[in-house]
Amino acid sequence: MTQTAQPHLARTVADLRRQTAVWRRDGRTLAMVPTMGALHAGHLDLVRLARQKADHVAVSIFVNPRQFAPHEDLDRYPRDEAGDVAKLAGAGCDLVWAPTPAVMYPDGFATRIEPAGAAEGLETDFRPHFFGGVTTVVAKLLLQVGPDFAIFGEKDYQQLCVVRQLVRDLDIPTAIVGAPTTREADGLALSSRNAYLSPAERKQAPALAKAIRAVAARVAKDGVGAIASATSEAKAALTAAGFGKIDYVEVRDAETLRVPVAGSDAPGSKRPLRVLAAAWLGKTRLIDNVAV
Ligand code: AMP
Repeated sequence: MTQTAQPHLARTVADLRRQTAVWRRDGRTLAMVPTMGALHAGHLDLVRLARQKADHVAVSIFVNPRQFAPHEDLDRYPRDEAGDVAKLAGAGCDLVWAPTPAVMYPDGFATRIEPAGAAEGLETDFRPHFFGGVTTVVAKLLLQVGPDFAIFGEKDYQQLCVVRQLVRDLDIPTAIVGAPTTREADGLALSSRNAYLSPAERKQAPALAKAIRAVAARVAKDGVGAIASATSEAKAALTAAGFGKIDYVEVRDAETLRVPVAGSDAPGSKRPLRVLAAAWLGKTRLIDNVAV
């Protein structure tokens, strides 16, 4: 049954902790979904998964300035807190954690997490500041909220791997749960940034999912030896479909994100693989990924 109770909206760490302390005292479990707001059906699928995992659900809404470079879209990133809270009320969220940047990073804030491992390459080659900002804010969010579970979308696959590594390395007592990517009927992965696309670009955008699915099918059939030709065909297809700069189309080990070595798909030693891509459509950068 859909719940429509208004979630509690917390704006200070003290208020947030007053709420979670009651649940903890009563032995209730808590699942959280970190977001940057501008919520779409993909975020709400994460909230539904959170509901299945725990007694209570918290959703954070925070557009984290530390994961944007000065030239990126921090100022124009879509924001709609009232609309988000209304959607969350309908999805059964109990608590919305919506700090301002000054609450998250008060004067004197001077600590930063520097992830390596899964954070190396791919996004980092193009957004070197990104995962340092993500891991710093995710560590803070998990320590502020103290959830038993935190749900992250496979849509941001490298981020999911980096967050798993973060909680493992820092012994943060939260189980990280990956959730499948929610897509439009034409295959385009839902994203708050899709709002930037013009109607013409929106028609071109599904070519990204199509291209990486073709890579996955080819590598599944012909093995890691086919990666180079499959990814260059995908890049050609993206260019033909109207994409501009292609940051990467890569096939990686699905757990470590390392480049698969020849023979790593031999019977008996087969490792799961993932196709990951990032490419520009006009002024909008789209990312997507699929399992092989
Ligand atoms: P964002 O607000 O874009 O930072 O995303 C918040 C969370 O929602 C992240 O864990 C994302 O991976 C996840 N997410 C975003 N888009 C989708 C989608 N289309 N399907 C599933 N999860 C998503």
